[in-house]
Amino acid sequence: MKQRRVLLLGLDGATWRILDPMIQQGHLPHLAALREGGAHGELRSTIPPVTAAAWTSFQTGLLPGNHGVLDFRQHDATTYETYAVSSRDVPSPTLWELASAAGKRVALLNVPLTYPPRAINGAMVTGMLTPDLKAEMTYPSALRDMLLQRVPDYRILVSQSVFNLQGWSRFVEMSEQTVRARARAFRFLLEEEVPDWDLAMLHFQETDTLQHAAYPWLDPSHPEFSPQHYEKALSVYRAIDQEIGALVERYGDADTLVIALSDHGHGAVSRTANVNAALAEAGLLELARSGQKGSLTALARAAMTALLRLDRWNLNRRLLPRGRRRRLVEQVQNSVGIAWDRTKAYMIHGWVYAYVNVNLQGREPNGVVPPAEYETVRQQAADALRALRDPETGKPVVSEVLFREQAFPGIASEEAPDLVAAPNPGYEFTASLLQSSKARVRRNLWRRDHTGTHSMDGILLAHGAAVRQAQVTDAALVDLFPTVLAWLGLPIPAYSQGQVLQTLFEQPLEVAIDDAATLEQFSRNRAYSPEDEAIIDERLSSLGYM
Ligand SMILES: [Zn+2]
Repeated sequence: MKQRRVLLLGLDGATWRILDPMIQQGHLPHLAALREGGAHGELRSTIPPVTAAAWTSFQTGLLPGNHGVLDFRQHDATTYETYAVSSRDVPSPTLWELASAAGKRVALLNVPLTYPPRAINGAMVTGMLTPDLKAEMTYPSALRDMLLQRVPDYRILVSQSVFNLQGWSRFVEMSEQTVRARARAFRFLLEEEVPDWDLAMLHFQETDTLQHAAYPWLDPSHPEFSPQHYEKALSVYRAIDQEIGALVERYGDADTLVIALSDHGHGAVSRTANVNAALAEAGLLELARSGQKGSLTALARAAMTALLRLDRWNLNRRLLPRGRRRRLVEQVQNSVGIAWDRTKAYMIHGWVYAYVNVNLQGREPNGVVPPAEYETVRQQAADALRALRDPETGKPVVSEVLFREQAFPGIASEEAPDLVAAPNPGYEFTASLLQSSKARVRRNLWRRDHTGTHSMDGILLAHGAAVRQAQVTDAALVDLFPTVLAWLGLPIPAYSQGQVLQTLFEQPLEVAIDDAATLEQFSRNRAYSPEDEAIIDERLSSLGYM
């Protein structure tokens, strides 16, 4: 028998809510066939269900409380600022590194959180958060020029600003081109760079980008569903389906396990809850008043609001140099907008989930809450979020509040926010101070291009000679790490938090545990130069992530 191998296919943010109707209409015959002949079900995301946290859990077998990657930008309570994450924030060996160390050959294309590339036994092209095509985006580094020669139209991703400025048709068209170019690049990797691969992964970002931009147009059950826009967008989903079909046709032999998965699901969003306004109303946060040192005058506030509104047309990209916009926003929110000496709890960033910190003495630079009052303040902040209601419906915005030790137990717990809040469907959060406290929950006004948000239920689909035909329940993203290792016959680090998904297979996989593998000594260090940070910021904001 040949050595077992595994082909992983990432569909960022893919959800059965959107794929099911497409499969039923016959638009995705290859995914339909894989599902028919294999195991499939929902795949539970991480807390929070966001791309950076989730794909890091997938690659490390650790939950966010241990790997510490909570979002694209992380809040640093000791400075009130945020910084962009990268592969260097991933503290423990990845699936790719463990397989490499065991002599397996690895080929990766576009997997999030792999930039800057870390050495593997094989080849990789880094994914989302790669600054641009000029960056050190491949391992080995000589691969970059060859890749761009062979696939001159290769793109890391399509910015949502294309949708804003050039419309849906152009956005969809470019997304489809990107899918095709990426699949060509992947075939080049597998055929010529790592023909003896044991572990390969191709990642598509386009499902997530399209769904963020216009979820209602893509979900036939949504009241604002648009058949014309849907028809156009189908070309992207069909392209992904065809490319997956071609890969399975070419590589899906009896020894190959094929797994398609997403990092989180997706749903419609139309209302934004202003967390800092809610905290202000509960007496836990104060805005700096005009005329005081460190305050924002009414005029400056109006100017800032106008500037941010321009973001709808992405004009401030032209008005402001790279990176300045974020600094400006952060300035408003951090040093100017909030009166730190009178604020007990605050949110610096957070969108899919809300991240709230207590302004704690000894941790925050201008902390005012003594450690003895930490629990009381945290409870008050949790109560304020639970009490947050949508004035239009009277219904609560927050579905659940979790304290740090519940949401993020582990070695990275200290860096996590003091509490997180999960929204009810249809809501997201903002830390903006630019809306009045009366409008705590409002329609997404200046983000009309942003009508989809993340949910906990991603997708899982496994196919291969060893795979059972089954509906899978209770599978989690973090389970893929031990499952893939076991499939490849490699030991699973004892610290791994997932379970081997034995339910996928006809015969249970043999499982070996590496008891010597412990979590101690894992460290992170930041990777971006200021120039890189500016480019990343621009990318994230153009994707609607900031
Ligand atoms: Zn994602």
